[in-house]
Amino acid sequence: MTTTIVGFPRIGHHRELKFATEHYWKNKIDQSELLDTAAKIRQEHWQDQKDAGVDLVPVGDFSFFDGLLDTANLLNIVPSRYKKLGLNSLDEYFAQARGFQNGDESVAALPMKKWFNTNYHYIVPEFSNETSIKVAGDKLFNEVDEALKQGVNAKAVIDGPYTLLRLSRFIDDKKPEDFVDDLIEAYSSVIKQLDSKNVKWIQIDEPALCFDVDDEQKKIFDKLYNGIFENTKGRSTKLLLQTYFGDIRDVYEDVTTSDFDGIGLDFVEGKYNLDLVKKYGFPANQVLFAGVVNGKNIWRNHYDDTIKLLDQIPDNVKVVISSSCSLLHVPYTSADETEVPSDVQQHLAFAIEKLGEIVELDSIYNDQADGKRALDTNDKLFREIKHPENPAVKKRIANLSSADYTRLPDRSEREKIQKKEFNLPLLPTTTIGSFPQTKDVRRARAKLRKNEITKDEYDNFIKGKIDRILKIQEDIGLDVLVHGEYERNDMVEYFGEKLDGFLFTQNGWVQSYGTRGVKPPIIWGDVSRNGSITVAASVYAQSKTKKLVKGMLTGPVTIFNWSFPREDVTPRESVTQIALALQDEVLDLEKHGIKIIQIDEPALRENLPLRKSRWYKDYLDWAVPAFRLTHSKVQPQTQIHTHMCYSEFGDIIQAIDDLDADVISFEASRADFTLIDQLVKANFQTEVGPGVYDIHSPRVPSEQEIEGLIRTLVKKLPVSKIWINPDCGLKTRSEDEAFDSLKNIVDANKKVRRSINEPNPVV
Ligand code: GLN
Ligand code: ZN
Repeated sequence: MTTTIVGFPRIGHHRELKFATEHYWKNKIDQSELLDTAAKIRQEHWQDQKDAGVDLVPVGDFSFFDGLLDTANLLNIVPSRYKKLGLNSLDEYFAQARGFQNGDESVAALPMKKWFNTNYHYIVPEFSNETSIKVAGDKLFNEVDEALKQGVNAKAVIDGPYTLLRLSRFIDDKKPEDFVDDLIEAYSSVIKQLDSKNVKWIQIDEPALCFDVDDEQKKIFDKLYNGIFENTKGRSTKLLLQTYFGDIRDVYEDVTTSDFDGIGLDFVEGKYNLDLVKKYGFPANQVLFAGVVNGKNIWRNHYDDTIKLLDQIPDNVKVVISSSCSLLHVPYTSADETEVPSDVQQHLAFAIEKLGEIVELDSIYNDQADGKRALDTNDKLFREIKHPENPAVKKRIANLSSADYTRLPDRSEREKIQKKEFNLPLLPTTTIGSFPQTKDVRRARAKLRKNEITKDEYDNFIKGKIDRILKIQEDIGLDVLVHGEYERNDMVEYFGEKLDGFLFTQNGWVQSYGTRGVKPPIIWGDVSRNGSITVAASVYAQSKTKKLVKGMLTGPVTIFNWSFPREDVTPRESVTQIALALQDEVLDLEKHGIKIIQIDEPALRENLPLRKSRWYKDYLDWAVPAFRLTHSKVQPQTQIHTHMCYSEFGDIIQAIDDLDADVISFEASRADFTLIDQLVKANFQTEVGPGVYDIHSPRVPSEQEIEGLIRTLVKKLPVSKIWINPDCGLKTRSEDEAFDSLKNIVDANKKVRRSINEPNPVV
């Protein structure tokens, strides 16, 4: 009877917001033009939802950069260093999101982090002793006015105080609980203002309730909302507690006996939510906003399954059909995808199509005549679905045994063999793989795409780049070289394009952060390798130098996590298929004389389920074996590296050691080597290359600074296990920055080496 969504993509049908914002940053348009574009985009998006027949339309989900940053600005949680710049409010907002530079005046951006288990990034709000919370922004209220004027049945959207506290950084001695009273006041005031505008529903997003919530945190949550309820008694606007990305088992009974008028549950990712409803019931005086249309994936909803799910909700419960989370994680419309095969096209549902699905599901659920028709059409679609199958792949998986996941001999044996085989100096130096993607590289790729140059010309160009970068690495004095990854546009797309089973969109952009987007590949058929992928480039590079060249692959878990996965196949099955395809590539590289092979897994951590108790069962139990499968068959003397670009893996150290790689390089976050202590404590066995150069900053670290870092490493870890490298690929840096920094790394390392008197110890 009622339908809604949690939120809509913000970037515009043709990424108008991205282009307008970037033009504004470059001073090509003025602020009023940017604001006009934004208003137009909002209007169109609201109209899209009205046209589709969605009843309750989210308002306030629009953002120029990030929703949590919007909430922080609404509540005056803006560090004074930005306020001191004296900018207008939009520029002050952008300064927080991306830093500010004007002459000598320069302020760094607030940090950015992955939003729960998605590939979207939020800006981390900062609380300090000077933070003074009050309602300061007018963006939300203006957008609500704008929507009401347009006749939109608005549901105002705001990030909730509990999630805000859980995701923010507290830089002084004040703790989250010290801000509770002020947050109660501020949120109450926001609610009252929206109430006075006659907004019918306010959606308060509290996805952090899907993390584990302990007793202390629960106390904070209860205190926040009891205060808000108390302060807003007599309101006629209704409050919806919206959760997503998991289930709310730790607070279910509390929130279903509270004064919330509606509870939004994610039934797609939070499968256990249905059990909670069945076990504890759902009160008749609250409305259940049922998130049944997947906001994170691009496939059509199978109505029959969804209705079966909804039918398990007791009859007396008032249900609103909704999306599982904001549609911000899917592209705008599949109608634009004219180049995917038509039998595939009809199975795609991006944001616009999902609106239609929600409305149709509502008709079916409420036994309306057009519902029956929609159900039949949908069912037919699913009955006729035909994913390209590859019996050989299926057979290969069926024949896997534990031996396929076990590399022999064990790591300590291999370590000895490899040390002897490579005879590398103490503290060997290397890089993570990519070198700066300079303009000429992008230009050549564009020319190839437009057929302005031949494949041969392009390949020769790449070979020239490889020759040059090998020479540069030799001159700098690095020990293990790379070919530079010039041939790659994107580390997942490049592999997807060369594997059977993947599809690509033309316009399937999803916001990653701010104005940046990604176009994730789609897994459609059984995945297999139909030819070598990286062998030619690696072999060419190795033929041009006496030093060792490291082969370079993207790992199975990262390829899987950064694609839109199938829903009819388990993640374990899909990732195993990808792993086998990569195993072929690894063995191919080995056969062609590549002795060191790096299998990157930067996305391993981000897909961890929100609840710790599910980390292994729902994820690591298939992710770790997939990685092992890719390299289990190589010879003892072939050295397998992996790379991860986050430093917070303290809590999955064991899983990372269990990948059974020989060497891992990772981000070691700003001289904060606490992770190193954790590695020591956990008796970590893999050789490690903690990044000694932060490639995310344009700064060139001095030789002295790096020397200090290396000396710290040497103090803490067995010297025979340490590698020296930057913390990630150099793709986004300028050549000058990259080369100068690498030179400083090598020179600093030489000094440390000289001062260590032991011979290269073989452990
Ligand atoms: N090998 C890749 C590179 O150097 C790794 C990228 C990443 O960690 N995201 O660019
Ligand atoms: Zn990285």
